[in-house]
Amino acid sequence: MRIGALEGGGTKMVLAVCNENGEVLDRKSIPTEHPSVTMPAMIEYFKEQKVEALGIGFFGPIQLNKAAENYGCVTSTPKPGWTGQPVVGPFQETLGIPVAFDTDVNAAALGEATWGASKGYENSVYITVGTGIGAGVITNGKLLHGMQHPEAGHMLLQRHPDDTYEGKCPFHSHCMESLAAGPAIEARWGKKAYDLADRKEVWELEAYYIAQGLVNMIMTLSPEKIILGGGVMHQTHVMALIREEVKKQINGYFDTPQIRDIDNYIVLPQLNDNQGIMGCVKLALNELDGK
Ligand code: ADP
Ligand code: ZN
Repeated sequence: MRIGALEGGGTKMVLAVCNENGEVLDRKSIPTEHPSVTMPAMIEYFKEQKVEALGIGFFGPIQLNKAAENYGCVTSTPKPGWTGQPVVGPFQETLGIPVAFDTDVNAAALGEATWGASKGYENSVYITVGTGIGAGVITNGKLLHGMQHPEAGHMLLQRHPDDTYEGKCPFHSHCMESLAAGPAIEARWGKKAYDLADRKEVWELEAYYIAQGLVNMIMTLSPEKIILGGGVMHQTHVMALIREEVKKQINGYFDTPQIRDIDNYIVLPQLNDNQGIMGCVKLALNELDGK
């Protein structure tokens, strides 16, 4: 079967065709421009590729409630032209195939849970630390939606007493994204994140914030596996600091096998940056199965 996968980001759209095992048969990436340019280009690609179903993981916030009038649309975004933009509708109307829709991070969480690091676990969290911070949550084997969808990157954190940086999020001065996403690191320290690799204080502070976010998620969602992806995690040395800080902040409250074996509890993705695309495939398969 030819399944279309669309990982829609604020910077680029990754378009792919896969089989039902998530194996990538074709792939291309186009810049995210105004929807009047980008939507027709994406529709054309999937038409040419003769896909039989399509799974979409898209940057949010998006409307996932099928009963809502604006189901399948982007709701609000600073990205020019995309506020209110229908995404599902135009694909369904032009391709006439089943279309599944979820957030980009939920798709990544599902990809890893189906074929990657959290395979076999009913409860897991996938967090991306990149231009923004987002989390996809799987609870009792299902993606968590609810009122809208989790926006865990905007959970409020306790500021480090020595941190005077005002924060990057226009809504919250001290949410996780505001203090710890890539652009916040770069604005606070005045350099590209990859040029700060050997500055110990940069990554200790980063670990302090990421760990707070993880501890909050551990306490509220009780995940059995936590996956940390995104551009900032290319600094793989920060992983050890995050694990150490999580243990420190939990402060002995839990004594579970997962916390004791934290190196296998908080892990990097396993799908080589294909987790989003592969998760879109699984979204499409679920839609076909009526799940
Ligand atoms: P996006 O979030 O836009 O999908 P990424 O996950 O690649 O894309 O995140 C991009 C951000 O990650 C950049 O703003 C940059 O700050 C940071 N980043 C990218 N590569 C690295 C790296 N090697 N080391 C540290 N930070 C990085
Ligand atoms: Zn925020």
